[in-house]
Amino acid sequence: MIEVSHLSKRYGTHLAVDDASFSIQKGEVVGFLGPNGAGKSTIMNILTGYLSFTTGSVQIDGFDIVENPEQAKRRIGYLPELPPLYLDMTVKEYLSFVYDLRKVKLPRKPHIEEICRLVKIENVYDRLIKNLSKGYRQRVGIAQALIGNPDVLILDEPTVGLDPKQIIEIRSLISRLGKNHTVILSSHILSEVQAVCERVIVINRGVIIADDTPDNLSKNLSNDHSLVARVIGPVREVTRLLATIKGVERVTCLGKKEEGSNDYLIEPDRETDVRRPIFERLSDRKWPLIMLRTNELTLEQIFLRLTDAADNGEQLFKQAAKTETPKSSLSEAEKQMVAELASGAPTVFDAAASDADSLDDASADPEDPESETIAQKEVDD
Ligand code: ADP
Ligand code: MG
Repeated sequence: MIEVSHLSKRYGTHLAVDDASFSIQKGEVVGFLGPNGAGKSTIMNILTGYLSFTTGSVQIDGFDIVENPEQAKRRIGYLPELPPLYLDMTVKEYLSFVYDLRKVKLPRKPHIEEICRLVKIENVYDRLIKNLSKGYRQRVGIAQALIGNPDVLILDEPTVGLDPKQIIEIRSLISRLGKNHTVILSSHILSEVQAVCERVIVINRGVIIADDTPDNLSKNLSNDHSLVARVIGPVREVTRLLATIKGVERVTCLGKKEEGSNDYLIEPDRETDVRRPIFERLSDRKWPLIMLRTNELTLEQIFLRLTDAADNGEQLFKQAAKTETPKSSLSEAEKQMVAELASGAPTVFDAAASDADSLDDASADPEDPESETIAQKEVDD
């Protein structure tokens, strides 16, 4: 449906899109994921024919966007970052105006009414757009993109600026639209693409650094066998005990996730299955283990890992199958993120970075992350 080949876009000396190639099949729901300034809007503006490009080619349903712009554009509905709404029109007037603009052949009234039903704006049909909430305006923006029944919908940051309830509504609308359309949406919010998209194209500084399903991204990058344990017991002692288990290289207290217990990220070496000893040792001390699970990468972690690798000149994703990944399973950025994600004060300890003295400080505050530093190295001694 969409074929993009070696696409580059230069703004003056700045290369905003750098040799991007991808194809999107009919019916796919694809997310462009990347931080602000990554080039998502630039690519979308190019796909929709609003922006010229420097090199490469773009085909929509076999029509070249440069040679056959009308044919190509007819197949696309676009919701730009700033929806082109006329605030002094009613929803009805505006959609009718867009209908005329696009020279749509379908019967006007039923077509517009059907779209309003689909995006659930029938109840504001006669209201002025300027009097609508941001959530409703966004839906009017999506309605506008649906006029003429295009096969492809391109939605640039469709939930930006919406409140959580509106976000959920727009996401479920996008999922519904995805049943009958090819959808491309962009987001810098990772949970968003995870919630809606079956495929993610990760863009960083104009370069596509990954293109896969959220699941596969996670699998390819997850080089560790880390576990997360939820334990009822004193943080320092539990941490110390877990770190003494043979094969455990690092233990990080992730803080309190459930009243009366703490979560611990346990990083074992590749060879050892530490699950059984974790259970047995905790059980010996009568510290209940109330949950034990593998630590699957979240999209946040995947993203940090990919962009970190890309910034270091590596191509982590494309070489993931071949490359021996480093043993230390969390990057600095990820560690920081683990720390941020943890509800309480997190405790990260690393064999190399830890400070043994703090362990012997009996007056150390158990809630103070600095006091929890521990590592296999010291415990072995
Ligand atoms: P995103 O949508 O991912 O946030 P954009 O596509 O808007 O990113 O921008 C990509 C890069 O191109 C950014 O560095 C941005 O500053 C630059 N850029 C975007 N539009 C222009 C423009 N009209 N002139 C010059 N630079 C631009
Ligand atoms: Mg943008």
